[in-house]
Amino acid sequence: MPGLEDLYREIILDHYRTPRNRGELAPPAVKAEGHNPLCGDEIQVYIDVADGMVRDVKITGQGCSISQSSASMMSAAVKGKSIDDIRNLVRRFKHMMSIEEEGNDSPIDESQSLGDLEALQGVVKFPVRIKCAVLSWNTLLDALNNA
Ligand code: ZN
Repeated sequence: MPGLEDLYREIILDHYRTPRNRGELAPPAVKAEGHNPLCGDEIQVYIDVADGMVRDVKITGQGCSISQSSASMMSAAVKGKSIDDIRNLVRRFKHMMSIEEEGNDSPIDESQSLGDLEALQGVVKFPVRIKCAVLSWNTLLDALNNA
């Protein structure tokens, strides 16, 4: 489809230049850190969890445009959502990145659009960049597991 890649590039650049939910959360918010040594990307994810929901999320870090824009999109996509919904979203995002969860054979519900996150699906053509795109998502899972 002509123009679609330009649109996707625009969304990725927008999140890179104007990252959403940038900053830190004070304890008792949970913090997790992720590194992608292949590219030098670093991400810190802070989540404030209450009543089974991620009430607030903040991101700090540095690295390539894919890692940082993916983190920004992730933060916008999970803020205010239930942990169940978020785990489902992480699984769908990683599925889009051709990464399947081990030991989870339940069908993936692909009826809902992933919204801006679909802008990152082109990354799957560049396997070395997939780690950049999923870094913040794996760091989010670490934070959820510590919450
Ligand atoms: Zn990177």
